[in-house]
Amino acid sequence: MRFRKISRINLLLIPCSVVSVPPKQKGEAEVTAYHLDESWQMKAACRGPRADLFFPPTHFEKKDEKEAREREAKLICDTCSVKKSCLQYALRIREPHGVWGGLNEAERKQLMAREAS
Ligand code: SF4
Repeated sequence: MRFRKISRINLLLIPCSVVSVPPKQKGEAEVTAYHLDESWQMKAACRGPRADLFFPPTHFEKKDEKEAREREAKLICDTCSVKKSCLQYALRIREPHGVWGGLNEAERKQLMAREAS
């Protein structure tokens, strides 16, 4: 199923949270929805009303606001029984946004760089 959504960050809902898809053109993106056979997502501690903590808001977010939001998200990750699977998944798909498995995008990038060297 394909659909278009116009926003600063385009989001595709998946069971545990959301996957952001970078825009192909300014202000617009084409997103392909696909079935993810990832049963660990059903056990994700981030499911539900706090899911917004795991991704940047659609409005500008100051550095200290981002850090505070991510701190809260990571506290939830620390209680999550599928943290390892979540991080492995985010690394495998090279998820460019949000907190996954207790790491934000910059931390995942650093981890991948360390593992590559
Ligand atoms: S580790 Fe964090 S982001 Fe991943 S499923 Fe658990 S709560 Fe969600």
